[in-house]
Amino acid sequence: MSIAVYPGSFDPVTKGHLNIIARAAKSFDRLIVCVMVNSDKHPMFTLEERVEMLRRVTAGMDNVEVDYSDILLAEYARSRGAHVIVKGLRVISDFEREFQMAIINHKLNPELDTMFLTAEHQFMYLSSSIVKEMGRYQADLEDFLPEEIIPDFLARIHNTN
Ligand code: ADP
Repeated sequence: MSIAVYPGSFDPVTKGHLNIIARAAKSFDRLIVCVMVNSDKHPMFTLEERVEMLRRVTAGMDNVEVDYSDILLAEYARSRGAHVIVKGLRVISDFEREFQMAIINHKLNPELDTMFLTAEHQFMYLSSSIVKEMGRYQADLEDFLPEEIIPDFLARIHNTN
């Protein structure tokens, strides 16, 4: 069985993430979307909220599972029997960091390879942080966030303003 892991912060999940999930799910028997606990960041949504929103927006995708992890990605992949990490590549600025991470992960776990999917043009400049910024200025969010989570996002923005 081919198993891949798609890791990220997903704070919150955007349409760009969802596009990568849907495309990657077609190429593997099982895709594990994994919310990585990153102690450097101050997330808008808790780990549990991010996992729950991801589960909600991927509910119709039979071979997609949502999980979280606070261990090294290479170790997590090994523990789940995954041989591929899926990453989305947006602008050129993503490339250097992703290239470095792919090499390190392969060194830590030689069974593991990273595969990149290029962002679709309409999501090329979309990131969770841009969405958070736009949300503060009442921008229309439909092009950026899955419909199901827009109420959660608006509630959080209004509570923190
Ligand atoms: P963000 O940068 O939006 O906070 P994450 O850290 O959650 O995103 O990113 C998880 C993965 O999803 C990374 O591989 C990232 O390159 C990819 N990704 C994020 N946004 C997009 C997008 N709009 N299109 C394609 N891939 C994306």
